[in-house]
Amino acid sequence: MELDNPVRDEAKRIKESPRREKIDSTNVCKKHQVFNVVETIANEKVLDVMSRMDLCTCEQCICDVLALALNSLPPKYVTSHAGKQYIQLEAYKKQLETDVAFALMKACMTVKDTPNHEE
Ligand SMILES: [Zn+2]
Repeated sequence: MELDNPVRDEAKRIKESPRREKIDSTNVCKKHQVFNVVETIANEKVLDVMSRMDLCTCEQCICDVLALALNSLPPKYVTSHAGKQYIQLEAYKKQLETDVAFALMKACMTVKDTPNHEE
């Protein structure tokens, strides 16, 4: 005597996760580079802010200030396509620059208090 057991049969079905084709990341964004405009502004300003705050400008301190500041700011990605988007940014670039400068100053104070560089 054999009993049909639909519940057990159902349990036997194993759901396999669908195979995902690997995305070839080397083909992404070759034509149009994507960059974080916040990072660009921070790179432009970091030395200026550091010297105004009388901070050591060794490589270690610059990297520390940049890393601290960039971690505290939301990134803003744009494409480099003919610089078009960057020009469109002009409208609120002033605000971005203010935010970045403020974040850099805060980062400078932290690095000044607890520098990572060697004597
Ligand atoms: Zn230093």
